[in-house]
Amino acid sequence: MSVQENLTHIKKELPKNVTLVAVSKTKPNEAILEAYEAGQRVFGENKIQEMTDKWEALPKDIEWHMIGHVQRNKVKYMAPFVSLIHGVDSLKLLKEINKQAKKNDRIISCLLQMHIAKESTKFGMDETEIKSLISSEEFKQMENVKVIGLMGMATFTENEAQIKEEFSTLASLFNLLKESNPTTEKIDLQVLSMGMSGDYKIAIKSGSNMVRIGSSIFGARNYS
Ligand SMILES: *Cc1c(COP(=O)(O)O)cnc(C)c1O
Repeated sequence: MSVQENLTHIKKELPKNVTLVAVSKTKPNEAILEAYEAGQRVFGENKIQEMTDKWEALPKDIEWHMIGHVQRNKVKYMAPFVSLIHGVDSLKLLKEINKQAKKNDRIISCLLQMHIAKESTKFGMDETEIKSLISSEEFKQMENVKVIGLMGMATFTENEAQIKEEFSTLASLFNLLKESNPTTEKIDLQVLSMGMSGDYKIAIKSGSNMVRIGSSIFGARNYS
């Protein structure tokens, strides 16, 4: 199946309120353009350098999402154009994003990443860390970042009950924080980013409204 056929097939299955991030990491510009021509405008990358190269080469109405772990010293390269950073996992990182956003005279939207998987390899904060970040004085002083939701990755497993439980944990925290944090300039909790090719259907049932899908659109990645 072609990129366009895959995209059409997946989009048919997504409820209207769910945003599709087409994860194009490792894939060439030609593949991205195929999806672009089918109407896709939101793309996700996990390496800042690769995303920056693609941003330079491709149409400027593409929204680029940084979905991977962010190294603080590289934030400056994406600050001029990134439209959403999914993997914010510390106040220190948010501070750097705020600093670079300010230099570019922008307000950068961010999601806080929660660690929900049983695996220790996945990044993210726990509930206490997320709450303390949101309520910190330092965060309240940052004028160039806005927290618009949460992101999480489930364990890579066939065990659907476990995946469901992990997504539900994230959805519960999202709903709780939404209730306890009225919308301000700094915080407007709208986005719950969870679900990839293998588990997006479970994620949507659990309340996700943004899915990050790569291999089901572009085919398997080749890292060699
Ligand atoms: C690669 C990646 C995805 C997409 O994975 P697929 O299984 O190819 O859909 C989603 N989210 C993150 C954070 C990723 O790094």
